[in-house]
Amino acid sequence: MSAAQAPQAVPAGGKGPEDGLAAFHRRSIEDREGFWAEQAALIDWHVPFERVLDDSRLPFTRWFVGGQTNLCHNAVDRHLAALGDRPALIWESTEVGQSRTLSFRELHREINRMAAVMRSFGVGRGDRVLVYMPMIAEAVVAMLACARIGAIHSVVFGGFASQSLASRIDDAQPRLIVSADAGSRNGKVIPYKPLLDEALELARHSPNAVLLVDRGLAPMIRVDRRDHDWAVQREKHLDAEVPITWLESNEVSYTLYTSGTTGKPKGVQRDVGGYAVALAASMKHIFCGNPGETYFSSSDIGWVVGHSYIVYGPLIAGMATIVYEGTPLRPDPGILWELVARHRVTVMFSAPTAIRVLKKQDPSWLKRHDISSLRALFLAGEPLDEPTARWIAEGLGCPVIDNYWQTETGWPILTLAHGIERTPTRYGSPGMPMYGYDVRLLHEQTGEEVGPGEKGVVAIVPPLPPGCMQTVWRDDERFLNTYFASIPGRQVYSTFDWGMRDGDGYWFILGRTDDVINVAGHRLGTREIEESLSSHAAVAECAVVGVADALKGQVAVAFAVLKDPSRIATDADRLALEGELMATVDRQLGAVARPSRVHFVTILPKTRSGKVLRRAIQALCERRDAGDLTTMEDAAALEQVRAALAGG
Ligand code: AMP
Repeated sequence: MSAAQAPQAVPAGGKGPEDGLAAFHRRSIEDREGFWAEQAALIDWHVPFERVLDDSRLPFTRWFVGGQTNLCHNAVDRHLAALGDRPALIWESTEVGQSRTLSFRELHREINRMAAVMRSFGVGRGDRVLVYMPMIAEAVVAMLACARIGAIHSVVFGGFASQSLASRIDDAQPRLIVSADAGSRNGKVIPYKPLLDEALELARHSPNAVLLVDRGLAPMIRVDRRDHDWAVQREKHLDAEVPITWLESNEVSYTLYTSGTTGKPKGVQRDVGGYAVALAASMKHIFCGNPGETYFSSSDIGWVVGHSYIVYGPLIAGMATIVYEGTPLRPDPGILWELVARHRVTVMFSAPTAIRVLKKQDPSWLKRHDISSLRALFLAGEPLDEPTARWIAEGLGCPVIDNYWQTETGWPILTLAHGIERTPTRYGSPGMPMYGYDVRLLHEQTGEEVGPGEKGVVAIVPPLPPGCMQTVWRDDERFLNTYFASIPGRQVYSTFDWGMRDGDGYWFILGRTDDVINVAGHRLGTREIEESLSSHAAVAECAVVGVADALKGQVAVAFAVLKDPSRIATDADRLALEGELMATVDRQLGAVARPSRVHFVTILPKTRSGKVLRRAIQALCERRDAGDLTTMEDAAALEQVRAALAGG
C-alpha cells in the first residue's frame, strides 16, 4: 500500500462538503429508512412498499416490506418504451468466432418464449431452476425468464465438475435444469452434458426436465422424456407472452453457492426488491452508468459479479451488457480493448488476475484501439496489488477502481463512489465503506474496535443493507452460526477478511481469517479440495493450503499422507500418483480447484487436538518462518513439509 496521493475530495457536481461521501454514508446509517426509501425510487414498483425496513428479527432483515416488484420487469420491460430498439445483450465469443446483439425488444421476446417453455415444464413461482451453462446469450435469457415467472435460479459455474454440481443439485432440488452441449476455453471444447449426466447419477434429487442448448460443439446423448432441446421448445412458443409475476420484495430471487470452511457449499439466498434497489443505486453512485451506454464485465455468470454486473445491474440501468465467451489473450492480448472500442464501452469490470495476465504482454496492446469511450475500469474479486493498479491506470488513462465485496453482499462493501464524490484513488486500498454498510474493524478475540493502523476483522453491524444475502438457503441456523457467531460478545456479520484502515479513512484488505482461498478471483474452500483428494483410495489424509502466486494471487498446494507409502517407490510412481490425484479433483470439482502441486509426506503437522496446522504449512510454502506457529512436537512433521518442498 502507499500513501502516494494526498486525498483531496472533490464532490461530484461541485456540491459542498456536506454532500460528500462521508455525509452520504452517515445519512445511510443514521436514517436508514429515509435513505433507502429515496433509493427505492430508482426502480419500478407494481405495489408500493408499506415499510422500508423490518429489523425486528435481526440479523434477519426484510427490506421494502409489502412492496411488489420484479427483476425482469426492471431489467427489460420497463425500458421497452424508451430503449426498445437499443442493444441490451451483446454476445461476443472469440471461442467460436460468433457474435450476436439483442435489442431490449428482442431480449424481451426471447425471455417470453423461455418463460413459456419453463411454464410448460411445470416451473412456477418459488420453484428452482438450475442453470449450468457456458457464457452464451441463452444463459442470460434463462436467468431472466426465471425472474419473470418468479422461479428461483441457481446458477452453477460452468468450470465446476460433476461432484460440485451434484451437491448443488441436491441442495437446490431444481424442477428444471438448463444446460448446453459444451463450452469452449482457449479454443478447446469442454463438453458439459457428460458432466451433467454424471452429476445426475451422483445426485439423490432428479429434476422433472433438462433443457439443452445444442451449440453443435459436442455430441449429446439424450435421456428419453427427461432431456429436451432448447431450439425445439422455443419454436413451440414463438409468440408467447408471459405476464410478469409480481413478487413481494422479500421473496427469493436466486441462490448462488459459495465456499466456506466446511466441505459443503452454502446457498447464498437473495431477495427481489432489496437486490433491485441496491443494484440500481450502485449503478448510479458507484459505476456511474447511463441508459443507452454499454457495460462490459469480463466475469462469468457463475459468479456473483456475473449476476450483479453482467446480468441485472447494467440492464436495470438501461445499459447494454456484453456477455463475453473468451479469454483476455485470444485471439490477441488486445481483445478486451478491441471490444471496448467496437461497442463504445463506458464502464468496464474485470479481475486483477486478468490484468496481471495482460501486464506480461507487450504494453502497446493497450494503445492499439480507440478506448476513449471508457470512463472507468472496476476491478474486484481478489486483492489488487499496487503495481498492477498503477500499470493499468497509466496505460488506460482512466480511473481504475478497486472494489471489495463478497457473494454474500451482492454489491461493493468498500470502494469509491464517484457518483457522490470524486475521492482520489489510493493504490492498494479498495476505498472506503459504502453507504448502507456499517463496517467496523474488530479485534478477533475481544470484539473491540481497533484503531487506525491496527489489524482487525472486517465486520458489518446489522441490519445488512438491501441486496445482501437474506439467509443460507433452507438453513437459517447455518446463516447465524457461520456469519454472526465468530466475534465474541457481538452479533455482527463477519466477512472473514482481515483489514486495516489508515488515518485518512482508506481501508486495506489483508487476507482471509479462515480456510477459504482465492485462486484468480475464484473462491475455493480448502476443505472441499481435501475431501476430493481423500476420496482417492491411496490417500490416508491430506492438507490443502493457499500459497501466494504472482499471477493468480494464490494457488492451492496439497500435502498427502498415503495409506501405503511404498506406492511411490520411484520418482515415476510419485509423478504418476500426483497426476492421478490432480485428475481426481478435476473430475469431481473442476479444473479451477486443481492443486498446482501435490506433495507426499508421511505425517502432517497438527495441534495436540488434531487440527492440521495449515498456517504453518502455508508459511513454509511461502518461504516464511513457521516458528511461532508451531510446537516442538510438530518439528518432525514440518521438516517433512520443508523437505517435500525442497524436493520440488
Ligand atoms: P467471492 O464471494 O467469491 O466474491 O469472494 C469474496 C472474497 O474475495 C472476499 O471475502 C475477499 O477475501 C476477496 N476479495 C474480493 N474482492 C476483493 C478486493 N477488492 N480486495 C481484496 N480481496 C477481495
